[in-house]
Amino acid sequence: MGPDIRNVMLLDGATGTELDRRGVDVGLPLWSARAMLEAPDVLESVHRDYLSAGAEAVTTNTFRTHRRSLAKEGFGDRAEALTREAVSIACRARDAVAPEAMVLGSVAPLEDCYSPELAPDAATCLREHGDLMAQLVDSGVDLVLVQTMSSAHESLAAAQAAQEHAPECWAISFCLAAGDPGMLMDGTPLSDVVDRLDGASFIGINCVAATVMEAQIRHLRGLVDDDVVIAACGNVGYADDVKGWINTDAIEPAVYASHTKTWIEAGAGIVGGCCGTTPDTIRAMRTLLRD
Ligand SMILES: [Zn+2]
Repeated sequence: MGPDIRNVMLLDGATGTELDRRGVDVGLPLWSARAMLEAPDVLESVHRDYLSAGAEAVTTNTFRTHRRSLAKEGFGDRAEALTREAVSIACRARDAVAPEAMVLGSVAPLEDCYSPELAPDAATCLREHGDLMAQLVDSGVDLVLVQTMSSAHESLAAAQAAQEHAPECWAISFCLAAGDPGMLMDGTPLSDVVDRLDGASFIGINCVAATVMEAQIRHLRGLVDDDVVIAACGNVGYADDVKGWINTDAIEPAVYASHTKTWIEAGAGIVGGCCGTTPDTIRAMRTLLRD
């Protein structure tokens, strides 16, 4: 039995792919961080549109504002300013559209999301994630959200940094390998990691295809205590080495929403969207959850 559908929290959808869809340059390695430099107004409109569609939280565009990511294009010394700008844009949208909504501070892998072998050593992960988290908390996010984690040691280092910098207001979400459920992309079983996440507000799975999310949630539900809240944010496209992400029309909003229902039945208490989802996706989910 999953949670009562009316109590399920609705997050927002993708930011990076939505900026791309709206014509903002999201080429690697800066990816969505470029929006603060070139299109802050478009970024704010993305946040506003998710909130208008019914999202109860927006996620800051800080996926690529670690100093390490920005240094690759010579913007390393602007990392903190861009992080603060991203939080301020998200808070502005929240205050204008849905003052009761939460602002989640996104913390992504230090290197490419789908390449766990590139993760720096644990001490570096601890320090660099800690730097970003301290800035997020100081800028006013309601919760630090570690996302798209694919390496076990980076996940645990980020969790430790969150326990230090955002005690009682952090959560973590994993990007899992295709195939049998519950396997991190570096080959570590999720079962080795989940009992070392003390204090997480929720444990999630994100950037896994919507079509296979149900099995992943069912597996995770079996690994954790009943009172652990599980979040599920699927995607609708595929990664590309050059462009970063290619949208497809594979999943229409209503179809995505119908998948969402199976995740809730499998035990998810929070649902949202990852790469390729749009405000229309969130609107369709809202209709399903609340009407
Ligand atoms: Zn994603």
